[in-house]
Amino acid sequence: MSEAFLTHLRSTLAEIDAAGLTKRERLIAGPQGARIKVVSNGATRETLNLCANNYLGLADHPEVIAAAKAALDAFGFGMASVRFICGAQTLHRELELAIARHLGKDDAILFAACFDANGGVFEPLLSEADAIISDALNHASIIDGVRLSKARRYRYANSNLNALEDALKQADSDGARFKLIATDGVFSMDGHVAKLPEICALAERHGALVMVDDCHATGHLGDQGRGTPALTGAGARVDIVTGTFGKTLGGGMGGFVAAAQPIVDLLRQRARPYLFSNSLAPPIAAGSLKALEIAINADDRRARLQSHARRFRAGLERAGFALLPGETPIIPVMLGGARQAQELAQALDRRGVYVAGFFFPVVPKGAARIRTQMSAGLSEADVDFAVAAFADAGKAAEVL
Ligand SMILES: *Cc1c(COP(=O)(O)O)cnc(C)c1O
Repeated sequence: MSEAFLTHLRSTLAEIDAAGLTKRERLIAGPQGARIKVVSNGATRETLNLCANNYLGLADHPEVIAAAKAALDAFGFGMASVRFICGAQTLHRELELAIARHLGKDDAILFAACFDANGGVFEPLLSEADAIISDALNHASIIDGVRLSKARRYRYANSNLNALEDALKQADSDGARFKLIATDGVFSMDGHVAKLPEICALAERHGALVMVDDCHATGHLGDQGRGTPALTGAGARVDIVTGTFGKTLGGGMGGFVAAAQPIVDLLRQRARPYLFSNSLAPPIAAGSLKALEIAINADDRRARLQSHARRFRAGLERAGFALLPGETPIIPVMLGGARQAQELAQALDRRGVYVAGFFFPVVPKGAARIRTQMSAGLSEADVDFAVAAFADAGKAAEVL
């Protein structure tokens, strides 16, 4: 091993650390849930969890676990192959058809993660003759997926419809054959929803397709959890939906693209993360299928989630925290510097509340925050406990 190379890496790590940007992983001893067991100093202690994407609280749902266990017995542990070589199990196909039906699309195709779905969706569909117009706040996986395609790339300022229209016109004057607008349904660091009806209207006017990454919405936002197209009324005008089973829908893993039949058919022929990567493990496919079934009928959980979000927002605002406005269960507490975010996270940790500080490069410099997320698995008393802990920790960390 080259000592010079290792020295170079160590100095990069030291720079990251000196800037207060080192991300440290904590260990959890037990299932994901509203309350988790965190390992610290060799012991475990219970804390309230405000940073999972476990919006409906399905990650440790007994029926999801039972479905996964049954699949382990009936279908085995793993697939040990890509689908075009050894085929898929009936489970995989059931899951594809169920998510497609849920989202009102002809068909869907599974990936190992939504990172792979976004990594694989653009390149087969669009060529150098085409244009992709992407929101500046889109998830890293969309950015990477767009980079992997040969289409011309255009970027518009977050949710800025004038900038989007300018980009559409620019793409036209550059001679684009097909144009695709790509956006997150919910911008995960800020928690706001994309202006889908306006985006779809612009798309119609300029003859563009619309792709929405609905990772932070499928299952918990919109009627029956059909996501931001349903929530905003854009509905079927969204052409392509990508999403994950790694968040609301059980939180196992797996991603998908749901769209019109020829889109899905071509992805099955050409999408590289699909062609050259293993199928989802059977217990994951079965657990996700069960989680989807539960989520569709979980109006009670969606109502609880919404009421928690309102209660928590109001409590934090009363305590004097600066929040980003929004109507989703993502509630970012804005702190400015990475150090303040880390210190508040530590002060909360000492008070039994588990949160994560987000800072550069995950969010822009100077926009560090603690992103809190509500879950239907929390009780109202949990939410009140979290508000009190924030107020107390905010004073202790001198951010209030
Ligand atoms: C979480 C997330 C992803 C990645 O999903 P995985 O299934 O975990 O790979 C992609 N896009 C957005 C917007 C996300 O929030």
